[in-house]
Amino acid sequence: MAGWLLAGVAMALELDGPRRQGGLLHGEVPPGSEVRFLGHAVPVDEEGRFLLGLGRDAPEQPVITVTAADGSVTRHRLTIETRAYDIQRIDGLPDNQVSPDAETLARIRRDAALVRDARARRLPQRFFDAGWRWPLTGPISGVYGSQRILNGQPRQPHYGIDIARPTGTPVRAPSDGVVTLAEPDLFFSGGTLIVDHGQGLSSSFLHLSEMLVSPGEAIRRGQVIARVGATGRVTGAHLDWRVNWFDQRIDPTLLVPPMQEVRGND
Ligand SMILES: [Zn+2]
Repeated sequence: MAGWLLAGVAMALELDGPRRQGGLLHGEVPPGSEVRFLGHAVPVDEEGRFLLGLGRDAPEQPVITVTAADGSVTRHRLTIETRAYDIQRIDGLPDNQVSPDAETLARIRRDAALVRDARARRLPQRFFDAGWRWPLTGPISGVYGSQRILNGQPRQPHYGIDIARPTGTPVRAPSDGVVTLAEPDLFFSGGTLIVDHGQGLSSSFLHLSEMLVSPGEAIRRGQVIARVGATGRVTGAHLDWRVNWFDQRIDPTLLVPPMQEVRGND
């Protein structure tokens, strides 16, 4: 693996990938080691390979704790690049556009539990070794990390990338994986699909008009898994593609080639 050596002879740790907020790192430690990062027991395979995710607001100097097979513990402090995100303030909105009613709140909570349960299923395989491609290409209408502040209340940041295409456009699996959730009508995200790529990494696809795969199904990179829609709380048809490493939100654009290089290949 092309990477860099963080520590000396006793405990080698190799890391590869963008050391910045939103980045996904590929790591390797001597087989039999245990790894902890940002509160997670990191899945490490029998060859010592693992992933680390750096979320939107990941700390500037997160610590990787490696426990070797002989019990010795080494702490590695990473320095990562922080990012500035697009923040939009909108004031003077009527209050009912800001606060959902009790019935809507109950539905939002039920949806969140479904998503949490799906994400709690974590497969140890490295399906993502199949590599990455765009699920579809098209105009980018929303970027990772942006946030709106409505009447002074910060909303949840936008964790995905929005690609505007008409309803019915095929959505292809960006990598291999196993489907863990296929819900046709969640309040915010409408038709929603979650795919587990292994070792804590998953993709979510939002606002779909149609889902062509079911929970438990193994899928291959490039397979048509769904169709673009305008379901949930949206103003127009688009795909919102999100990537998670446990609770850390990854910037999907850091996994795939620049879109202009592949545009029109889908
Ligand atoms: Zn979106």
